Amino acid sequence: MSANIWRELAREIHSLQPGKTVLPLHEPLFEGNEKTYVFDCIEAGWVSSVGKYVDRFENMLAEYTGVRRAIAVMNGTAALHIALKLVGVQPGDEVLIPSLTFVATGNAVTYCGAKPHFIDVSKATLGVDPYKLDDYLKETAIIKNNVCINKKTGNIIRAVVPMHTFGHPVDLDPLLEVCDRFRIIMVEDAAESLGSLYKGVHTGNFGKTAALSFNGNKIITTGGGGAILTNDEGLANYAKHLTTTAKVPHSWQYVHDEIGYNYRMPNINAALGCAQLESIEGYLCKKRSLNDKYHQILSKYDGITLFKENSNSKSNFWLQTIILEPSQYSVETALKTLIENKIIARPIWKPLHLLKPFVDFERSDLSITEQLQDQVINLPSSPYLGECNDGKKT
Ligand SMILES: *Cc1c(COP(=O)(O)O)cnc(C)c1O
Repeated sequence: MSANIWRELAREIHSLQPGKTVLPLHEPLFEGNEKTYVFDCIEAGWVSSVGKYVDRFENMLAEYTGVRRAIAVMNGTAALHIALKLVGVQPGDEVLIPSLTFVATGNAVTYCGAKPHFIDVSKATLGVDPYKLDDYLKETAIIKNNVCINKKTGNIIRAVVPMHTFGHPVDLDPLLEVCDRFRIIMVEDAAESLGSLYKGVHTGNFGKTAALSFNGNKIITTGGGGAILTNDEGLANYAKHLTTTAKVPHSWQYVHDEIGYNYRMPNINAALGCAQLESIEGYLCKKRSLNDKYHQILSKYDGITLFKENSNSKSNFWLQTIILEPSQYSVETALKTLIENKIIARPIWKPLHLLKPFVDFERSDLSITEQLQDQVINLPSSPYLGECNDGKKT
C-alpha cells in the first residue's frame, strides 16, 4: 500500500526532468566561466598552491557573505579543524555539537584533541535547539574563572558548533544569548549554508569563526574545498599562516615558526570556485523554485511534510527535505521504493553518538535527534530541477 505512494511520487519527481533516467541527490552545474578559468590556470602553469584565483576566490567569498575575511582551504573538514583551533579549543576541552550532523563536525573536534559533547536539535530548524541547550547547561555546567565547566567531568566546555542543516539556519539569536551567559564560544559549521541568511545576515557572521565546504555535492563546488570565515582580522591572518605550513614570509628561506598544516586550496580549485560563485544567484533561485515545485507535488500526500524555510531566515534549500509521519510511513520502504524507481533519495545521517568512534562521549537528552531518524528523507535537489525566470543563465 505505502510502496505504491512512493512509486507514484517517483513518477511525479521524474516529470521534473523528463528524459533523465536517474535523478541523483545533488549534481553540480558548470554553465559559467568554469572552463575558461580552469584552462587559464593550465595555460599559465599555476595549478597548485600559488596563483591569482585563490586570492580572488577569498575576496569574492568575503564580499558575498559579508564576513570580513575568508581563507580558502582544501576541504570543509580542514576549515572546521582550524576554525576550532583559532578560538582556542585545546586538548581535553569539550565542544558542544549536534549529534545530528555529518561526521566531519565530530572529527574536527577530535583533531584538536577535544571531546565532542552531543546536544539535541529542534524540529523547527533541524539544528541546535538553544532553549533545550540552556536548560541542559543550567543543570550540567558552572562558570568558574570566566570559563564554562562541565560539573560532571570537570572539563572546560569551550565552544558550541551549530550546524545549519540542509541550508536552514539555526535560531542564532537565542543561541548567542546562551553562549554569552555561559561563556561559550560559537563556531558555525556553515558547510551546508552558503547563500543562507538569518535575519537578513549571511550565516557565518555570527560565530567567532565559521567553516564552509565546497565539496562536489554542496551548493557550489571547487571539486574539493572549504573556507574559514571570520570577522576578526588577527584570527584571519593567523588562519592563513596556520593553513599554509606556518611559513614565515621570506623570498628564499624556509622558516616555519610553529607546527602548521598544508591545508591550502590549490589555484585550479579556486578557479573553479570563482566561476561557481559568479553563478550562485541562479542556483539559489532554481533551488527555491524546486522547493515550490515539491510543495505542489507533495501537498496532496497526507503525512508527508515538505520542510519549509523559517520566517526569520532565508534558506539556500541545499537539500530538499521531507518529514514523514512515522505512524503512517516507514523511511525504509520510502527509500527502497524511491531508489528502485531511480530517484536517489537518502536518509538523514546516523546520529554521531551512535557511531563507534563517538559512543563514549558526553550527551544531553537526544530524543528529537532519535525521532528524526524515522522521519527525514532528502529528495533529489540538483539546481537543474528548478526553473529560474529572472532571465539569467545560471
Ligand atoms: C560537507 C560538510 C562538512 C565538510 O565536508 P568536506 O567534505 O570536508 O568539505 C562539514 N560539516 C557538514 C555538516 C557538512 O555537510
